[in-house]
This record gives sequence, C-alpha cells and structure tokens, in this order.
Amino acid sequence: MSRSTRDNAAVGLDTQPVLTVTGLRRAFGGVRAVDRVEFSITPGEFVSIIGPNGSGKSTTVNLISGVLKPDAGTILVHGRRIRLGNPEAAAAAGIARTFQNGRVFGDMTVRENVDVGLQTTLRASRPLRSVANIPVLKWMSLLAELGVALAPTPAVRAERRASQTRIDAQLARFDDRLIPRADNPAYTLSYANRRRTEIARALASEPGLLLLDEPAAGMNQTETAEIGRQLAELKAQGQTVLLVEHKMDLVHDLSDRVLVLDEGRIIAAGTPDEVLDDPRVIEAYLGRSRAGGKVAVDA
Ligand code: ADP
Ligand code: MG
Repeated sequence: MSRSTRDNAAVGLDTQPVLTVTGLRRAFGGVRAVDRVEFSITPGEFVSIIGPNGSGKSTTVNLISGVLKPDAGTILVHGRRIRLGNPEAAAAAGIARTFQNGRVFGDMTVRENVDVGLQTTLRASRPLRSVANIPVLKWMSLLAELGVALAPTPAVRAERRASQTRIDAQLARFDDRLIPRADNPAYTLSYANRRRTEIARALASEPGLLLLDEPAAGMNQTETAEIGRQLAELKAQGQTVLLVEHKMDLVHDLSDRVLVLDEGRIIAAGTPDEVLDDPRVIEAYLGRSRAGGKVAVDA
C-alpha cells in the first residue's frame, strides 16, 4: 500500500480519485498537443494512455508531472489543486514519473540514482526544507543540510539506514538485474537496466501516482514480458499507475481502463477489450495509412 493510500485511509478519503484532470490544454505554436483532456484515476487503478505517435501522450504526462505548464486546465491530486508547471509541487503531491527516452544520472551508481527518488520524502536530513523555495532563505536550508551531513544526528543515521533498506527493496523488484550492479555507475548499464533503474528511482518516493512513459520502449520481447510481470506485481500491491505504452499486449494485460488519444483529444475510453475493438480507435491508428487490420501496434 502506498503512503498516500495509507494517509487517505486514515482520514476516510479512500474513494477520492488520486488524480483528476479537467480541461487540460497545451499548444505548441499551432499544434494542439493536448486539447481539453479530462479524466480521473481512482486509488489502485491502472490506467493506460494509448494513441498514435504525436497524439499528445507524453505531453499529457509532462503536464501532470509539472515538466510543462498547461495553457488551461486544473490538476487535482487527492482532491487538491496542485501548482501547474511545477515539478516540485507535483512530486510533493506524490507524483513520480519516468521519461520516454530514459533519464538516469550516468556518473552516479544505480544505488545513488534510486536514492535521488528518496529525496522527495526525506525529512530529518533536510531540516529547513519548507523554506528552500524562498530564494533569500535558501542558503539557510543548504547550510542546515551541510551541518547535518558533517555531524549526522542519531535521527539522520537512522534515516540513512532506513533509506538503504528502501533502496534495496526497490532494486529487488527487478530480480537479479540491478542488485549485482547496485554500486556500478549507471553509464555502464544496458539500456533495459537503465530503464529499470529509472522505475526504481520513481518508486523510491513511494508515489501515490506513478507515471510511466513507454517503459518498454526499446526493450526486446523477453525484456518486455519481464517488465510486464513486474508492473503486474506493482499493480497487485495497490500502486496507482498511469502508463503510456505502445505495446498493446502490455496495455491489454495490465490496464483496468484505457484512454485513447488522437490529435490531443480523448477519442475513446474503456476496458482494454472495449477500446481495442472500437472502430474509432482502429481508424485513429490506421485511418491515415489505411493499412487495414486491427490494432496491434508495436511502434
Ligand atoms: P506522443 O507522446 O503521443 O507521441 P507528444 O505528446 O510527444 O506525442 O507530442 C504531441 C504533439 O506535440 C506532437 O505534434 C509534437 O510534435 C508536439 N510537441 C511535443 N512536445 C513539443 C515541444 N516541446 N515543442 C514543440 N512541439 C512539441
Ligand atoms: Mg511520447
């Protein structure tokens, strides 16, 4: 159970959606990348976004995670509006993500990369965290963190031990792929292992909502099946997920609900079977090329 799910249970808000987006819009020049997108995700739900290349999937993820600022719309996390276009606000609200093109810090070890994900939840070693966003006061926060680093208090030492346990738990999700490489710099990793490290990093913050932008992109069939099993396990553990994915087998097997984007708009939504049989979806994927057949995209 994720931290936020636990928090909600405590205050009786379990039925509140984890995420609600309304009227989300973002244009690039004349291109309406995301055009009045609206949807909610309930606790523990596994929702996927599919759609042709350029249909606005990554832009949607970028808007929700604060990497991009919408032109219009609201984003609510557990019923509370979050500051738009602000990655720190999204992270503080419990949103973690991975990137379509994969982003790890090459010079840092696997373990250090995952530790970055933990930083959003640490308290004791960041005593003045709340003032860190106020420019004039920023140095105070840094100074306090430096003091803690030089002379760790018992609370900080305990927190570090707990951090290592949490990092190990995330690495262990990927069987023997990451654990033997935990102290190797990320630049030495295979492409698939970098993607796994990125997922472990996102999970380290125990996010209320995990956003995955094509986690299986560039993976071969065996690796894709493996990541599918690991995502299924996450789902079984109650993790709320928004997945963007081209590989339809993965989407079909994992999703409670699928949203289909085309030219920035949601053109269909439903169970995987409903959506993949929907003529509008087949048209969106194949209409322009008239290639015929059903949706079995693996771009
Ligand atoms: P998808 O992830 O579904 O393939 P994107 O969300 O990446 O699609 O892109 C949606 C549309 O917005 C595309 O036409 C793309 O070219 C455009 N777009 C996305 N990001 C940018 C950007 N940073 N600058 C300009 N155009 C962009
Ligand atoms: Mg994309």
